Amino acid sequence: MSAPAPTPSTSAATRIVIAGAGPAAQALVAQLDRARFTGTITVLSNRDDTPTELLELAMLPQVSVRFGQPASHIDAVNRTVATADGMEFAYDQLVIATGSAPVASPVDGAGQCLSYATIDDAPRVAKGIQKVARELGRRPVGILVGTGAAAGQAEAVLRAKGVRPIRTTARPAAIIPAVVSGGSASRQAASAVVFEDGSSMTGDLVVLAEERVSRDGLAASAGLQTAAGGGIVISRDYRSSVPGIWAIGDAAAFDGVRLGLLVAAASAAGACATQLLTEASAAPALQAAA
Ligand SMILES: Cc1cc2nc3c(=O)[nH]c(=O)nc-3n(C[C@H](O)[C@H](O)[C@H](O)COP(=O)(O)OP(=O)(O)OC[C@H]3O[C@@H](n4cnc5c(N)ncnc54)[C@H](O)[C@@H]3O)c2cc1C
Repeated sequence: MSAPAPTPSTSAATRIVIAGAGPAAQALVAQLDRARFTGTITVLSNRDDTPTELLELAMLPQVSVRFGQPASHIDAVNRTVATADGMEFAYDQLVIATGSAPVASPVDGAGQCLSYATIDDAPRVAKGIQKVARELGRRPVGILVGTGAAAGQAEAVLRAKGVRPIRTTARPAAIIPAVVSGGSASRQAASAVVFEDGSSMTGDLVVLAEERVSRDGLAASAGLQTAAGGGIVISRDYRSSVPGIWAIGDAAAFDGVRLGLLVAAASAAGACATQLLTEASAAPALQAAA
């Protein structure tokens, strides 16, 4: 199935497609809007949920957000992006902002844990902790699984919420849920982690805050250069190795480094918007000269 045909490519209206709808994509749309970009912007989100920030951007006349539509294939020659559902979007400029994903596949029983996998999880983790503390009637002991920056932040959240964290950098083989019954209050929360060698750790709750890596598979399959440690290789102006394709936010790596911070995503979006506007204003002149 094809998306409704946007503006023909011969017109001055530049079509920008953004793969990904996280903070970097949102900042880019906001920047383009502030700069009174007159073309069309299509944002592809692989998530079904509709966060307020994204809905507000979707209200802008030049913006269309496609929820639950993961970008799954890029045809860099014909400049189209296809989604998993078979929709196809033509672009003049494509920006990849697919962010990051956990390095490893989920541990057995991970569904029973509090997961600190995105920045939005902090309030959810805090709420989960409060619930466990209420049920226990004391300060909970929390097992924190993870290394790196996310685990450091999760530890700060746990301490701030009165949990005594016990951290493990070894990855468990499984999480064992506990059922605590008390009248109508019955709790199903993870309370033990078991390691490959059979050893285990017990606590009142388990928080997973595992290491993440750039989500660059879509880009790699389209022939974009990716860094050895993950991430779409970009130049200083956020161009990828393929003409017409840019990368910002956690999906990108400059000099082999993924910055992985909101402030970095926002400044990348600002600088990329400037480049896209320059391309858009140059396009009609190029077409006229052709
Ligand atoms: C646990 C955690 C805590 C953090 N805490 C902080 C903090 O305190 N301060 C700070 O500055 N930074 C923090 N960060 C980093 C910050 O969240 C990221 O730098 C920022 O979210 C990057 O934004 P992004 O849009 O590039 O990527 P993401 O936030 O990963 O967003 C990418 C989006 O694209 C979607 N997507 C992925 N693939 C596709 C596809 N194929 N098609 C369509 N959509 C797709 C994803 O579902 C996601 O919604 C934290 C990160 C984590 C993981």
